[in-house]
Amino acid sequence: MLPIPFNDLKASYLNLQAEIDAAIRRCLDSGVFINGAEVEGFCRSLASYLDVKHVLPCANGTDALQIAYMAVGLKAGDEIIIPAFGYVSAAEAAVLLGLKPVFIDVNPKTFLLDEGLLENTITSKTKAIVPIHLFGQSCNMEAILAIADKHGLYVIEDSAQSLGSYSTFSSRKKQASGTMGNIGCTSFFPTKNLGCFGDGGALFTNDDWLAERIRSIASHGQSGKYNHEEVGINSRLDAIQAAILSVKLPQLEKYNTRRLEIADFYDQQLSSIEQIERPFRTAVSSHVFHQYVILLSSGKARNGLKDHLSRSQIATQIYYPKPLHLPKAYSFLGHAAGDFPVAEEICQRCLALPIYPELSNEQIAYIADTMKDFFNERVTDPSFSGC
Ligand SMILES: *Cc1c(COP(=O)(O)O)cnc(C)c1O
Repeated sequence: MLPIPFNDLKASYLNLQAEIDAAIRRCLDSGVFINGAEVEGFCRSLASYLDVKHVLPCANGTDALQIAYMAVGLKAGDEIIIPAFGYVSAAEAAVLLGLKPVFIDVNPKTFLLDEGLLENTITSKTKAIVPIHLFGQSCNMEAILAIADKHGLYVIEDSAQSLGSYSTFSSRKKQASGTMGNIGCTSFFPTKNLGCFGDGGALFTNDDWLAERIRSIASHGQSGKYNHEEVGINSRLDAIQAAILSVKLPQLEKYNTRRLEIADFYDQQLSSIEQIERPFRTAVSSHVFHQYVILLSSGKARNGLKDHLSRSQIATQIYYPKPLHLPKAYSFLGHAAGDFPVAEEICQRCLALPIYPELSNEQIAYIADTMKDFFNERVTDPSFSGC
């Protein structure tokens, strides 16, 4: 049972070993390693699962974002609104294209883009909004889409962590994460909810014209062989990765249900610990718990708990230790500490507990008990009395 790693990719392979080995063998036998039937078949299955018209493959989630920005025609100097709390790719791809990332703070409960701040962040140069659907639930897409519509902005979803979650609109319509904006982007990095055994990514769109643009940009800007209409990039999904993803896609619902079950268990077990804020679940999106991120009262308390869990052989992670406006690489944007106070505070106080389908009930019970012990001990530790 111990140690408990933060992810267990080998266990995830062993659970499907025969099918995955057969899929890889099939690719080796076919001699087709790039594009071809495996990639097309996987994209069709994913499109049908998500109920979206087009799924276009690419090499990774970061490329997906870059291709999306290029596909909607963003140009150097255009402003693109990105939450200050999230993974770096959305900002990185923007800067590589000469776009200006304009950060926006997040909601202190959901950790997601605070749509209430959008109107004040939009300028005459704003061209797009990138909701990052962090940790497994989607941003408030109904509100974001309405504002984008009013100002004529593109919406490019970063759904690398939310595959399989869906939003509910006030019309009661439900839509899968990544299929609501103009383009959705995802990653099949091995630890994502749907992960391959290497790098992989995809873009989603319901727009035929954008689908063609995406296809061309990801293939050296070609329309037809050696006909380079514009400068593109080279970004492909390997056939072997697609074959592995085709084995895993039918398991995604089961995986996400198990993640939810573990989250429910943590919620219930940790509810008596008043020093811990459990993940908030929005009413507008279902949650697929890519991460289970708790908040402690301070950075010191967070680090103390992390150390204690580590001594008890439980791996945890800090997602994320820094907001996107403060790393050195982005200092040219001129931001300072205090610019996005909610994002900054979450970075100080957050801690991600292990959450993946292969965790056993025994392991999650041990994690919860270890946390309860820690806080009880601190309350009753005799060395605390009289000081
Ligand atoms: C993983 C991830 C990415 C990047 O995906 P890669 O495949 O590693 O390039 C982008 N955004 C978010 C939110 C992610 O979690």
